[in-house]
Amino acid sequence: MTEHPLIDPGQDPSGEPRIVSRDGHRISRSQIDEDVLKILYRLHRNGHLAYLVGGSVRDLLLGRTPKDFDIGTDATPTQIKRLFRNCFLVGRRFRLAHIRFQGNKVVEVATFRRSPNPDELPDDLDAHSHFVENVFGSPRQDAFRRDFTVNALFYDIATFSVIDHVGGLEDLEERRLRVIGDPAVRFREDPVRMLRALELAARLDFRLDAELLDGLRQCGPLIAEASAARLRDEIMELFRHRVAARVFRQAAEFGLLTPLLGGYGGDGESFDLLDRLDERTASERPVTEALAIAALFLGPFLKRCPPRRETPVAEALREANELLGPHCRHFSIAQGIRQQARELLAACFRLGRGTGLRGEGRFLRHPVTPSALELLSLWAEGHPELAELVQRWARLLSGGLAGPAPESGKAPRRRSRRPRSRRRRTAGPPETKEP
Ligand code: ATP
Ligand code: MG
Repeated sequence: MTEHPLIDPGQDPSGEPRIVSRDGHRISRSQIDEDVLKILYRLHRNGHLAYLVGGSVRDLLLGRTPKDFDIGTDATPTQIKRLFRNCFLVGRRFRLAHIRFQGNKVVEVATFRRSPNPDELPDDLDAHSHFVENVFGSPRQDAFRRDFTVNALFYDIATFSVIDHVGGLEDLEERRLRVIGDPAVRFREDPVRMLRALELAARLDFRLDAELLDGLRQCGPLIAEASAARLRDEIMELFRHRVAARVFRQAAEFGLLTPLLGGYGGDGESFDLLDRLDERTASERPVTEALAIAALFLGPFLKRCPPRRETPVAEALREANELLGPHCRHFSIAQGIRQQARELLAACFRLGRGTGLRGEGRFLRHPVTPSALELLSLWAEGHPELAELVQRWARLLSGGLAGPAPESGKAPRRRSRRPRSRRRRTAGPPETKEP
């Protein structure tokens, strides 16, 4: 049984970390971004502590390529700004330094901070500002304010050693995700951490520690109180990291899914589709937000609006709109993305109706059609009755189109001077005129 070194640093600020020197770990400077190294060295040369922190240390120790490198230091934001010409201070509640490089590259340098005591929290703290951390602290306090032990490891540029205040090294070795402190307290403080836990465990293929699981069972539905904007970002991370299906299934198990997705229930078939979408992402094909939303809702949409030759596309668009509306409002999805998601669903409907209907040439040239076919092909992997149809469409799309479609000979339509009607604005893929 692990000895839990997770004492509150407020009670024991002098606690000693475990330090692993250069020859005891696998992090080499050659794996660290050159600009990041320069920043670390300059901070160090100027008498400051300079650590690599967060996910980058975790990933390097696991032999993975970090997504980005974050730096922690005891220099204050003003001191950091004085050292770097290309430095901009950002953040209202907690000032962070962004050091900018060519090509939109930004390295974040943060002063060590600690969690505020309850009496330091502002009076106007609302349900969405759980993650308020605006007090400078020691490196040890900075480790303890983080979410999981494996995310709280430091790499010190002065000694090239790894510094572990929270037992994260042992958890890395055991491939176990553990919350720093009492999971129920930390989840209540910031419910987004529950989603981060599922995501990280899925990404790293780590097991969730027993206390973390208890915390999830206790606090699952609180996810509804988290800021929708932050959840939306984390949800897109799931798709980016190819763990959407796995995490949503687990979220459903802990009662997190419905409150997480603003009422969406999902079902086995939808998760199976997300599995296949995650596999597709593995071949370096990123998922756009519109595609992610369309994939989430394709199953419920096809149930609600089964593709029939006699059903007009306008009705499919209406159904798609109604289905996506609550989700898009909940997450303040931009109108353009919502429109793309709706077009994808309506195009899947059109594909599902079969080939040979009027307006097919125009439909085949519509920019959304290839993505819709890709989505429907993934769906068809679980619905063999659609396989032949999908292949037929694929042949048509890949050049089965002989000669220009009839519409293309027509003079371009004059743009109406009338203000665009609501209907026009919400129009999806070109409507098929029914025979
Ligand atoms: P990724 O590989 O996705 O970048 P990451 O661990 O670096 O993973 P970030 O979202 O970049 O994740 O956060 C950086 C660090 O900030 C984390 O490693 C963690 O230490 C800390 N952190 C982020 N979010 C929270 C949170 N909600 N509560 C406490 N600490 C957090
Ligand atoms: Mg990161």
